[in-house]
Amino acid sequence: MSTTTPGVEPIIAAKDLEKFYPQPDGSRIQVIAPTSIEIYPGQIIALLGPSGCGKSTMLRMLTGLSPTSAGMVYWHGQPVRDESPNVSIVFQSFALFPWLTVLENVEAPLEARGVAVMERHKRALRIIDSVGLDGFESAYPKELSGGMKQRVGVARALVVEPEVLFMDEPFSALDVLTAETLRGELMELWLGKKITTRAIFIVTHNIEEAVILADRIIVLGRNPAHIHAEFNVNMGHPRDHKDPRFTELVDLIYKALTLQEHTGHVPAGHDETEERRKRGIVMLPHTRPGGMAGLLEILDDHEGRADLHVLADELSLEVDALLPTVDTAMLLGLLKLEEGDAILTDDGKAFAQGDIQERKAIFRKAALANIPLFRQMEQALRSKSNRTLPAEFFQDLLDEHFSEDEAQRQMETAIQWGRYAELFDYDAATGKLTLTET
Ligand code: ADP
Ligand code: MG
Repeated sequence: MSTTTPGVEPIIAAKDLEKFYPQPDGSRIQVIAPTSIEIYPGQIIALLGPSGCGKSTMLRMLTGLSPTSAGMVYWHGQPVRDESPNVSIVFQSFALFPWLTVLENVEAPLEARGVAVMERHKRALRIIDSVGLDGFESAYPKELSGGMKQRVGVARALVVEPEVLFMDEPFSALDVLTAETLRGELMELWLGKKITTRAIFIVTHNIEEAVILADRIIVLGRNPAHIHAEFNVNMGHPRDHKDPRFTELVDLIYKALTLQEHTGHVPAGHDETEERRKRGIVMLPHTRPGGMAGLLEILDDHEGRADLHVLADELSLEVDALLPTVDTAMLLGLLKLEEGDAILTDDGKAFAQGDIQERKAIFRKAALANIPLFRQMEQALRSKSNRTLPAEFFQDLLDEHFSEDEAQRQMETAIQWGRYAELFDYDAATGKLTLTET
């Protein structure tokens, strides 16, 4: 596999790509800071980053599917708006047509491109065979397992012989073993040159997946998304996840992922977190207080300090599965990070060793001190004589700062945390929040 060679023309070159969403008040939510990425032939590139950091947004702009807010994407040197690039995308959700058979699903993109019946039949059957779907041509998606569905997703993407194959967390919805099998099959097609695709661009939040597949790994930071680190992987295939070089790289990438947010590494002038904070908004990680309590207890068992990677191993978790929980504890001032080690603060220690009432009190104090939303909620509820307001009132406030989905999720998380902290009560039947009197 060739690496980035000067002199070789990139298939895709994105220059100072940006994505932002203008807001009614004239400000804007910057999701992607000016970023340049090049995709060279012969390479698998993995784009790695925490959930919600902007990976899918980046992928869609690179394919030309979604407009850029600023900057430009070039395909073979031509602006993508003039060219219609030959790409296809495999989605996490499979995105198959439920009313079409396997064969019809795979033929669909050829039909859309006006390929004649016989020809599209021939091409679809060939690719169905090469992804191991032969015998399933006339099955419907609902009759297939997740793994088989994603094989259809891959076949449908490959049937147009895309120059670059884009994949957006293609294996995340599958169980571990099926995901491993499909990764192996993909590598067989790619390394065995059984497909004409010249480059693969895969989005993932799974570090090991990136190290198994990719020649180059780009780690995105968030708020707004920017390239935080880049790694070249110079290892042959198949890669052994017990190989010391493999685990070393996983560790390096893991540290890059955990350290980035907490070292203030964001391009000047584009600090979205700072922007939101100025406007009194902190983005809540979507976690349960009970999960954070578990993490703090485990740390307390380790004398208050542990390497997160070792900790994740002990818990048999993907390292990145720990990150939202770590973020939560950091946001609340119960934990700090130093070079990949998580360290309990005094409050964190008190929390870990406290009984349930002491924990709730610490959580409540920390939430009010560190998260403006909870202060706003408390004040607004207190201002009402009956101490009650519909949750929608706060959701509307969040809508100003987040996409609709994210605002909803922020509200759900805030309600969970607020109930735990006994800050307020929530009545699901009426959708109303009532302040807890102390
Ligand atoms: P990922 O794929 O890394 O999980 P996405 O690219 O899907 O992330 O989303 C990146 C960010 O863009 C999210 O934080 C999301 O809230 C934000 N976003 C998406 N649409 C809008 C919008 N219309 N207005 C404001 N922010 C948005
Ligand atoms: Mg995504």
